Amino acid sequence: MTNNSKQETGDLYVISAPSGAGKSTICHRLMEETPDVAFSVSHTTRAPRKGEVDGVDYHFVSHETFMSMVDKGEFIEWAEVHGNCYGTSRASVIAMMARGLDVLLDIDVQGAMQVKKIFSDAVLIFILPPSLKVLEQRLRDRGTDSEETIRLRLENASKELEYIDRYEFLIINDQLIKATGDLQSIILARRCRRERVLARVSLEGLI
Ligand code: ADP
Ligand code: 5GP
Repeated sequence: MTNNSKQETGDLYVISAPSGAGKSTICHRLMEETPDVAFSVSHTTRAPRKGEVDGVDYHFVSHETFMSMVDKGEFIEWAEVHGNCYGTSRASVIAMMARGLDVLLDIDVQGAMQVKKIFSDAVLIFILPPSLKVLEQRLRDRGTDSEETIRLRLENASKELEYIDRYEFLIINDQLIKATGDLQSIILARRCRRERVLARVSLEGLI
């Protein structure tokens, strides 16, 4: 039942984690299992990995194009991460939220802090690997990065973990099904907030 006088707006979820902790896997699984969730496809100057599709995993752009988008204010946030630039499209995120979709941002800790400044209601969620050893193993098993890249990403992991106090929710990605379920529970519970429910029902005639 909809109420024409109000429009339900989606929520913004920031998902951060050290590289290899499993956030892309969890986000994709969640999207398959949960209606009305959208993934914000970032722009990046990183080269595509084997199997990555332009416009699906990322919008792969040159450094020049990226910087011109920065100058035009087209990103809500952007940051240099592990030696490449990544940014979140303002227009795309705002359009998806306006359609009532809950939007997932798979972004790093620097980006998360910028988003929280602009969208104070954004929910910050940090995915933790069960251990550093497991993180390293997952990066190696993924088979997409050079030894040098893996080293850099592991070094950065401890710096990223320094930010966990700023995150409202922590999810341990030990079992994929459990971790995806935890993320889904947070999203579904927040959809029951009074203001969101009242935006989608009409109580006319009842109260
Ligand atoms: P991130 O997006 O955080 O860099 P990925 O989603 O690419 O990480 O996951 C890194 C690797 O770990 C992938 O090969 C993925 O299949 C694997 N992986 C993710 N979650 C789990 C899990 N719970 N158990 C075992 N392997 C996992
Ligand atoms: P990867 O190269 O493994 O896909 O991503 C590297 C890191 O960049 C991850 O921590 C990921 O969350 C982050 N990232 C991806 N997109 C964005 C973005 O738009 N903004 C920011 N700040 N970080 C991003």
